Amino acid sequence: MIIDVHSHLGQYANARMSADGARLSGLYEAAGVAHAVTFSIEACYGGVDAGNAYTLTEVARQQRLSAMVVAHPEHMESSARWIREAAANPDVVGVKLHPALGGYDVLGHAMDRLMERHIAPSGLTVLSHTGNDSPNVTIDKYLELASRYPTVRFIAAHLGVGIMGPGDTAVNAWVRKPQPNVWFDMGTLRAFCTGSVEQLLAVVGPDRICFGTDAPLYHPAPFVRMLAALEMGEDVRERIASKNALAAIPALLGRIVGAGAAA
Ligand SMILES: [Zn+2]
Repeated sequence: MIIDVHSHLGQYANARMSADGARLSGLYEAAGVAHAVTFSIEACYGGVDAGNAYTLTEVARQQRLSAMVVAHPEHMESSARWIREAAANPDVVGVKLHPALGGYDVLGHAMDRLMERHIAPSGLTVLSHTGNDSPNVTIDKYLELASRYPTVRFIAAHLGVGIMGPGDTAVNAWVRKPQPNVWFDMGTLRAFCTGSVEQLLAVVGPDRICFGTDAPLYHPAPFVRMLAALEMGEDVRERIASKNALAAIPALLGRIVGAGAAA
């Protein structure tokens, strides 16, 4: 069973990189992905109310999808409202942050207030964009944020590095500051560079990397083939495919047929 922890609903730069719930579910069905966590693309830029409302409406119609609500520290009241709504809506399994598109620093004062007052008390898993080319949210900064909130589970998107810059930034950051409450997703073209997933795996261990695709910005199907091709034991491959996602996002348990057996 494969669970994708990173995908988007809504309109991106062109129609083919955009999706409503039915289109996203169709891509996953074709790719052999059992379940996916998705969040609004528009809300990442700051359209928190419109983006989250659309996402929850679409996810409610698709059994294959769960949602994360996008929070933004400069939209504090809206973010607080969506996080409260999440507590009463079983379709919502986490909070998405995008400090790069949202134009704020992940270690900023407003972000700390958002974490302290709303996100941490909710118990929801946080997934944030991370990348070498995103000074707002490098993997070093994200591990620092995670160390401030040890009871919160955090997922670092894009293997902690993204497409640009050195491939070993997340490896070096983890060696300096390993965090037991941090996981990674592999939703980046970097994952197709031979050895990139294995290099991170060697340092963070088999329980830390989750399958992710960033669909529909990328086709999910090649990520499924790539996971099958990675040089690793079947036990580790199963952890990356779904077991680590269930540990990083416990709210997914019970939402997926067969998830209990996988866990
Ligand atoms: Zn993304």
